[in-house]
Amino acid sequence: MNSLNLLKTKQSVVYTILNNALESDKLAHAYLFSGIKGSLQQETALLLVQSLFCEQSKWACGQCVICNRIKNNVYPDMIVLDGSLGSIKKADVLDLQHRFALTSLEKYVYKIFIIKDAHHMTNGAANSLLKFLEEPSANVLGILISDQTEALLPTVISRCQVINFKRLSYLDNFEIAKLNNIADLEAYYYSKVVFNHLSVSDFIEHEAFQLFQITFERFIDLFDTKPDMALYSIHNILLKHKDKEVVRVGFDLFINMLIVFYGDTITQSQKVNEWYDLSVERHKKGVNSNQLLEVILETKNKINPSINNALLVDQMVYNLKEVM
Ligand SMILES: [Zn+2]
Repeated sequence: MNSLNLLKTKQSVVYTILNNALESDKLAHAYLFSGIKGSLQQETALLLVQSLFCEQSKWACGQCVICNRIKNNVYPDMIVLDGSLGSIKKADVLDLQHRFALTSLEKYVYKIFIIKDAHHMTNGAANSLLKFLEEPSANVLGILISDQTEALLPTVISRCQVINFKRLSYLDNFEIAKLNNIADLEAYYYSKVVFNHLSVSDFIEHEAFQLFQITFERFIDLFDTKPDMALYSIHNILLKHKDKEVVRVGFDLFINMLIVFYGDTITQSQKVNEWYDLSVERHKKGVNSNQLLEVILETKNKINPSINNALLVDQMVYNLKEVM
């Protein structure tokens, strides 16, 4: 299923709003896509941009050269600022305006900017953006994406047409992952813990996900028989990675997935794949899941930017060994 069908079936209200706008050629100058992460905001933003440039059909075909260049973010008239990588500063917004002031590099007149995690704009950036939004030039379209709209300046919000994306269910997310040709186990990870960190189209390739997956699966293979080796794998695979942001996301996925896993040893009703189901069965017999869960939840509550993850993990595994 392509992005358009996903949008139609999983976010039908959003589809109707955007479809009407495209049909009547009355797009707003700026949209704010609001709602928790992993509700198809990013996919919809790209689809909308593709639809403005694709020559094959009203909604983008998703297949042509132009659609692919936009998907791969190598389209000069589309600029993406990504607040998930750090705060967006005034200079970033000024640079965007500057680049838009130059002549269009493509034969189309539209110029698009997308701001992911728009709440990570500094006040300076937000004020510059505001000036930009207040003089809407007919050929610029902005798409702001945020799951924390309360952290945006009210004046910025009032300049945008706000489109609310509804929270998708676990089953929706599982289906979305499967429709993206993702295997059962990875689709399960996506639908349970990954969806609000990384997008469905590229999480498999993401370093944070890969580190999480190796660490989690080794941990589960080893913990009930060789807990010290399980601890070693967290330190040596996940925590020693040099990119702090990768470690932060990977560690968060790891802790959340442990909670899902030990939850499944108590209540599992769904089959995932052979490795996962056998692991659940083994741990069900061999460990005290309720007490393990308590320890992991305690650890999760202690996670914050200033805490040393390595110490936190040592303490967690020590406590897990005590109660297993
Ligand atoms: Zn196309």
